[in-house]
Amino acid sequence: MHKNNLESTKKSSVVLKAGKEKAIKNRHHWIFSGAVKHLPDFEKGAILPVFSADGELLGSAYFNKKTSITGRMLTFDSVSPLQAIENNIQEAITFRQELFDRNSTNAYRLINGEGDMLPGLIVDVYNNVLVLQIATLGMERLKSTIVELLLKKTSSHCIYEKSEMPSRYEEGLKDCKGMLFGSLPDRLIITENNLQFIVDIEHGQKTGFFLDQRENRKLVHSLSNNKRVLNCFSYTGGFTVYAAHGGATLVDSVDSSEQALEFAKSNCSLNHLKTNLNFYADDVFSFLRTNDLAYDFVILDPPAFAKKKDDVIKACRGYKDINRLVLQKIPHRSFLLTCSCSYYVDEQLFQKVVFQAALEAGRTVRIIQKHHLAFDHPINIYHPEGNYLKSLLLYIE
Ligand code: SAH
Repeated sequence: MHKNNLESTKKSSVVLKAGKEKAIKNRHHWIFSGAVKHLPDFEKGAILPVFSADGELLGSAYFNKKTSITGRMLTFDSVSPLQAIENNIQEAITFRQELFDRNSTNAYRLINGEGDMLPGLIVDVYNNVLVLQIATLGMERLKSTIVELLLKKTSSHCIYEKSEMPSRYEEGLKDCKGMLFGSLPDRLIITENNLQFIVDIEHGQKTGFFLDQRENRKLVHSLSNNKRVLNCFSYTGGFTVYAAHGGATLVDSVDSSEQALEFAKSNCSLNHLKTNLNFYADDVFSFLRTNDLAYDFVILDPPAFAKKKDDVIKACRGYKDINRLVLQKIPHRSFLLTCSCSYYVDEQLFQKVVFQAALEAGRTVRIIQKHHLAFDHPINIYHPEGNYLKSLLLYIE
C-alpha cells in the first residue's frame, strides 16, 4: 500500500496498545477496552481494521464503545470481514453435515458463536426452522446479511429471531423476538436420535430445547434400563423421554412450570412410552427435602444458578443443597447425573461443590463419567470462554 494510503487507513482503524496484540495473535476474539490505544470515530457496531502498536494488520473486528469487550474479531487476516462471515457460515454448515444423519436427528446448533468464529451469533436448527440469537450490536448490524446467507446456504425457509439475553442491554440493545423470514408451523416437531419432541420456540426456554444436553440424554438412555428414575428440573421432558425409552420402570419428573410439564407429557405421548410416568409441578428443593428419593438414578439439570459473577457463592450454595439432599437419601448402588450450565461456576469449582455435598452426606461417591457440551456446540481452542456446561455422572455406594 502507498505510504499516504496506509496512514489514512490507520487513522480510520483501531490501534492496540503495545503488547496487547498478543491475545489477538493467539486468535482470541475479544478486545477489551483497556487494550485499545486509538479508536477512530465510528458508527456504533461498525467493522474496523485492527492494527498492533507496531503497525501490523491483525484483522478486523466490530466495535461498541459501550461494552468492556469493545471489539470482537471477525477475521485474523486481511480477508474481507463479509467474506470471512460467509466462509465461516459455510464451514459451520459443512461440519454439522458430518455430525448428523438428518433422518435420525434434525435439531442441532448450526452456529455456536466464537466456537464457529462468529462472535455474537447463535443459530439453532429445529427441523425446517432456524432460530437466530444475536448477542451484540456488531452482529445486530449484520443481521440482514446473515439472514440472506442462511437462506442461500440452507434448505430452510423459516427464520425466527429469539434474541433475549441480559448481555444485550449492556450492548445498548433491547430484546428482540419474531419472524425474520417465512412463518412458523402450528406445531413444530423435531427428531433427535429417532425420538420426537414438540418444541415451542416462541414461549420455550432459550431457543426452545436444550440441544447442548444431547449426549447426556443418550447417556441417560443407556443407563436407565430397569431403573426408577427421577428427573429434576425436567423442563419439557428431554431426559424423561430418553429414560423411559431406555427401559426405566418409573420416571418421575419435577419442574416448577406447569406449562413445561404439559409439554413433557405430550412428548411422552408422542413417543408412545409405556413406562410409569409421573409429573410433579413443584420446587425441586422442597421436593428433594420432603420425599424419600427411592430412585436408582437421579438427574439434576437445573437452570444456571449463577447468571453473573456476583451470583457464584449463592449459586454454589444452591448446587450443594440439591446434590447433598440427593446424596443423603438415594439408595445404595445408585446413579446421579449432576449438571451445571453456569458459565461462572467452572468445572473445578463445580466438582468441589459436589465433593462438599458428598462429604456432608457421608457417602462413598465415584465419578464415572464427565460430560460436556454436545458435539454441535464446538469450543474454539483459542477461545475457551465458550465452555459453560459441565456434568458429572456419579455412582453412589
Ligand atoms: N433439564 C432440562 C432443562 C432445564 S431448564 C432439559 O434437559 O431440557 C430449567 C428448568 O428448571 C425450567 O423448566 C424451569 O421451569 C425449572 N425450574 C427453575 N427453578 C426451579 C425450581 N426451583 N424447582 C423446579 N423447577 C425449576
